[in-house]
Amino acid sequence: MKHMVATWLKEVSQFKNPFADYLLMHFYRWLRSPTSFLYDPALRRTLHNYTKKLFVQLVSELQRMGSTIIHADFSKIILCTQKKVTSDAQGYTQFIIQSILNKELFHSIHFEVRRCWEFLVWLDASNFAGIRKNKRLEETDENMTPPEESEVVQSQSGSEEVELVMNWNMIEYVPIEMCQLTFTKTISTYYGTLYENLLTSKPEDVVKTVKDLISGEMSQKLFHYIQAIHKKHPEKELTLEEYPHLDFDHKSKKMTINPALELSKAICKVLSLDPRIEEEVSNLHKNLLRLIDVGAFSDKAEWKDPCVSFTLPEVLCENCNHVRNIDLCKDSYQHIEDNKQMWKCPNCHLSYDNDQIEFNLIDSLNRQSVGYIIQDVQCLTCNEVKQDNIAERCSCSGYFKTMLSRDNFIRTLKILRLISTRCQMPLLGESLDFMLTNIE
Ligand SMILES: [Zn+2]
Ligand SMILES: [Zn+2]
Repeated sequence: MKHMVATWLKEVSQFKNPFADYLLMHFYRWLRSPTSFLYDPALRRTLHNYTKKLFVQLVSELQRMGSTIIHADFSKIILCTQKKVTSDAQGYTQFIIQSILNKELFHSIHFEVRRCWEFLVWLDASNFAGIRKNKRLEETDENMTPPEESEVVQSQSGSEEVELVMNWNMIEYVPIEMCQLTFTKTISTYYGTLYENLLTSKPEDVVKTVKDLISGEMSQKLFHYIQAIHKKHPEKELTLEEYPHLDFDHKSKKMTINPALELSKAICKVLSLDPRIEEEVSNLHKNLLRLIDVGAFSDKAEWKDPCVSFTLPEVLCENCNHVRNIDLCKDSYQHIEDNKQMWKCPNCHLSYDNDQIEFNLIDSLNRQSVGYIIQDVQCLTCNEVKQDNIAERCSCSGYFKTMLSRDNFIRTLKILRLISTRCQMPLLGESLDFMLTNIE
């Protein structure tokens, strides 16, 4: 196969053979689709393993060259270049890309610098904020970006506009306007101050200024807001219909949250992403919790992602062959069409075929349920996997437990059930209903 692909490549580069080009472009689609002729899952897995190996080598090469990796998957790598000016950072990235491409191993990888942030705060793909300058590079790229909430546009003196992009999925689940406003205001004030000071002052002074801001003015304002919110909305009920992505308890369809608590957790979580102000943030967090009568060490005080997630790997765009992993619960490249949710390709902006996604999900569901049924059982005491079929207990007299937990499996089924309802996937829904009624 390697030989075949190499020949195609040669045909394209030397003779400009259009058919070889088509074959190359659609090669991966042929390889991964179970309906294609001569489909071989082992071949697919081998190629996937090679890709993964190459990816790991690429990441370690980047690290070896001194860049810090913020986020990396097969289609996107976010690097921290430690440079103060964007033009330096761009030069540095170009240099890195060139030196990586000079290595024979990475010859075939295609790199493209999509975006340069002045400053970026990253929690995960659906929770981040950053400041960027509206320059050429971004303008050409504007169509590629997900529908982010551009919250604040700050005009600076001079011709360049600086924009603060805030994309925090976590606060959308506190459905009270006052909470969301407070969140946006606090976080944007903090980043605005930080950014302005970074431009004008020395690094030590910057840290001191933001520390003072948090323990002084910001704390006072937050105390006031949190108290007011706590008084006005002591609790709020969220239902499964309205917020299908939330991590609901096993059987309940409702959840009661304390908006003031959720707000203070979210703000402190975002602020705590900067380790330099850890102490101030933790003080602020303790004080806020005290205001709403929650113990600082209780489980409730800990922030956890309120949203469920289910990632469907390797979704292929039929139009442009772009492959990516989609988190079906959080992905932002989506829209509602005919009352059903559809996902879009970030590359060519066409919607994916929902039927295809449904079949992929059914396939994944079948594999998971087979995996659950034929799983091994393990001794609770000595952790040894059960060898025979008959024994009721382990040789050490311990009881057995399953290796994959039943609750986790049911949870996955429920997440899929929600996805099938929202996207109107009847076949998937039917098989899920069957499984859920039989397992519970
Ligand atoms: Zn596409
Ligand atoms: Zn045992």
